[in-house]
Amino acid sequence: MPSGLPSGDTREGFAAHLEWERALFAARWAVVSWPREHGGRDASAMEWLIFEEEYYRAGGPQRVTQNGIFLLAPTVFAFGTKEQRDRILPRMAAAQDLWCQGWSEPNAGSDLAGIQSKATRDEAAGGWRLAGQKTWTTRGAFCTHMFGLFRSDPETERHRGLTYFLVPLDAPGVTVRGFGRLDGDEGFAEVFLDDVFVADADVLGAVDQGWGVAMATATAERGLTLRSPGRFMATASRLTELWRASADQDDTRLRDAVVRAHIDAEAYRWQTFLTVTRMTDGEDLGAESSLTKVFWSELDIEMHELALELLGPDAETDESGWMKGYEFALSGPIYAGTNEIQRNVIAERVLGLPRR
Ligand SMILES: Cc1cc2nc3c(=O)[nH]c(=O)nc-3n(C[C@H](O)[C@H](O)[C@H](O)COP(=O)(O)OP(=O)(O)OC[C@H]3O[C@@H](n4cnc5c(N)ncnc54)[C@H](O)[C@@H]3O)c2cc1C
Repeated sequence: MPSGLPSGDTREGFAAHLEWERALFAARWAVVSWPREHGGRDASAMEWLIFEEEYYRAGGPQRVTQNGIFLLAPTVFAFGTKEQRDRILPRMAAAQDLWCQGWSEPNAGSDLAGIQSKATRDEAAGGWRLAGQKTWTTRGAFCTHMFGLFRSDPETERHRGLTYFLVPLDAPGVTVRGFGRLDGDEGFAEVFLDDVFVADADVLGAVDQGWGVAMATATAERGLTLRSPGRFMATASRLTELWRASADQDDTRLRDAVVRAHIDAEAYRWQTFLTVTRMTDGEDLGAESSLTKVFWSELDIEMHELALELLGPDAETDESGWMKGYEFALSGPIYAGTNEIQRNVIAERVLGLPRR
């Protein structure tokens, strides 16, 4: 396992992480749950969860290819043609093509159905012309490709008339402008599209049916694949070690809080096992992934806040990753759909409460 890699959200760190990603691929550990023909090991969902636990327990770094392998890939398996699967997945698994997510726009974040970027049919060329602006594109400045939603039918509104496109970022008309985050990393980008040609072969799912395709990606993002419990179990273990090493072991409030965090991480783990069992039995995760998203994002903050409390004044100068982790954890309730929106979804679609 590599240790002490710089943040994958910096240019230098991203390059270092890519070396690790490629080593994982060479040993066929990059995408264990994928079919063998695409570079995987045919692992079941339960086996994948065990792999993730062991990966993070061994100190494995977070995956900078995650928006491709964990978000786009499940969507390509579900909606892609055979030609798309064969062309896109092996290069994604090998960290040759690096994917970012182009959904949010300056005026469409929570209200994703309000996107204004357009796709205009170019019949003669056999494809589409894209125009508009995407923003908050994680690691967009370092990636080679973007998946994104565009309004393909100007006559329709909201969830209808959207199409899901796969866009090479070196296509003529694309401008990627990286910008910094509050924690100093430069991992965000704005992506400007000016009459960018995308061939029909790079439409994922049916034309004008992009919302349904995007919701499959969102379910993966909020639910299972983006944040497997292994990552939080590893954080809970590090937290327990930190507590053991701290001078404050007589502080029962802190001790109880550490125990609570551990129990919460375990609860998330068992809940995930339950979810996977239900999915294996053919059930759809759907709106319930919103419950999962609220839980893991709040748990991440809870654990990091506790760690900073245990570190006391040393937290300010901490270089072991707790402070950095805390700053990133604070964004958990925002990305993958804000927790306010998830609570709306839970209220209306899981609990069946009235909209008003
Ligand atoms: C670390 C990070 C990484 C990201 N990566 C990506 C990426 O790779 N690709 C991408 O496309 N996007 C990405 N995003 C963008 C993210 O999806 C949006 O920030 C998010 O959807 C919120 O949209 P917004 O920022 O426009 O806020 P707004 O939608 O303007 O929301 C502002 C506030 O109003 C609340 N609010 C809005 N509508 C409602 C409502 N109906 N009911 C209750 N409350 C409401 C929100 O919860 C929020 O608190 C990322 C964001 C972060 C923080």
